[in-house]
Amino acid sequence: MQTQLADRYRNSSFGEEAQQIVGKCVHCGFCNATCPTYQLLGDELDGPRGRIYLIKQVLEGKIATERTQLHLDRCLTCRNCETTCPSGVQFGRLVDIGRHLVEQQVARRPADRTLRATLREGLTGSWFAPTLKLGQAFRNWLPQPIRNSVPQPLDAGPWPMRRRERRMLLMTGCVQPALRPTIDSATARVFDAAGIEIRVAPARACCGAIRHHLADAQGALREARANIDAWWPAIESGECEALVVNASGCAAMVLEYGYLLREDPLYAERARKLSERTRDVSQVLAGCATELREQLKPAGAAQRVAFHPPCTLQNALKLAGATEHAAAAGARAARAQARAHRRRKARRDPVVEHRLHPAPAGWNCGAGDALDRVAGRPAASPMRNCRAGRFSATETSAAPAPASTTASASEARCRPRPTAEPVPRPGSAARSARYRPGR
Ligand code: SF4
Ligand code: SF4
Repeated sequence: MQTQLADRYRNSSFGEEAQQIVGKCVHCGFCNATCPTYQLLGDELDGPRGRIYLIKQVLEGKIATERTQLHLDRCLTCRNCETTCPSGVQFGRLVDIGRHLVEQQVARRPADRTLRATLREGLTGSWFAPTLKLGQAFRNWLPQPIRNSVPQPLDAGPWPMRRRERRMLLMTGCVQPALRPTIDSATARVFDAAGIEIRVAPARACCGAIRHHLADAQGALREARANIDAWWPAIESGECEALVVNASGCAAMVLEYGYLLREDPLYAERARKLSERTRDVSQVLAGCATELREQLKPAGAAQRVAFHPPCTLQNALKLAGATEHAAAAGARAARAQARAHRRRKARRDPVVEHRLHPAPAGWNCGAGDALDRVAGRPAASPMRNCRAGRFSATETSAAPAPASTTASASEARCRPRPTAEPVPRPGSAARSARYRPGR
């Protein structure tokens, strides 16, 4: 797709980058088949091809409207479309540029602005944890809708204190330590079992993803620079060999530091090196299978686990299957342990059944709905219902699902197939045929 950049974007690095990305698009529409918002809303402009066209128009100087903003807001940035694009269009990068340009042209309504500012400052601010603690203390007295959003306080469990030869820095992020403290301590215990000491990265700041996806590019870069200042010395000195991240959305953002700060003479080099030394948990544990296998103990009851591979893990980190593979290997080892245990004891023990049931892949977890809800857009509800249907299907076919994920009959149309194949939607071919670029 040829793009004639408007004068104001000519000679700008983002303008040229966007032009080059749009130039790769051959308009085939394959990407629509894996786009959740297109599948649910059925509007060409809520699919990647339509969004590319909208961004192209903005790059060529057409004034963006609230409608342009609406269609870009609805994109969940899941990057599923990149997996089916034969031309290698980097849609994730393009939509970030597009949102930034549209944000400069279209003023948001006051309620929208307030909500976005609350998310931006509230989730990443130092007062998030104390506010949550206060909410948990008075949870029983809160009105039901607010109470549902305040999780019960959790005991994080013990943090291993052994000194190890191998050390890694753990990025804890902005909300996870307060909302789910169990995740970081479980990570530290598993790494300890693998012979790796975990040190908590200093400056518990946001990775920058929240601001980045809320079109606050400068705020995101500010957070990225602060994190590099805080984390890089421990890695540069050799005290820690890598930065480990146990939230794939944050890992995806840290991996982008090198790219986002490529033109900053002070930070470019360190940002690139930090991105290169950033690892998802599954990448590290894949190399520790032997140490971990030796420490597996046979459990006393059958257990089944449903695993949802996040879109960032699959599409941004490109680690589809890594966690499933590691967990399945662990499950096989645990079953072997159980059989050996039974033989030794020469009696019938309960069958140990550690099986991993990947939740149907290719659909978004809903984190993107946060942005969708910020804009008061209607995509959030169908997305939520559809995910509920998918997990409900996992429940009936394989694993128990939490009660909150039960789908209603009205959501039956979103019920998934038990494979990772994209779900064809009735009439999608006809919709593609109806596509009018000038719309
Ligand atoms: S990033 Fe996800 S929601 Fe956005 S256009 Fe691509 S597939 Fe659709
Ligand atoms: S699949 Fe790729 S080339 Fe085809 S329309 Fe989508 S973005 Fe363009």
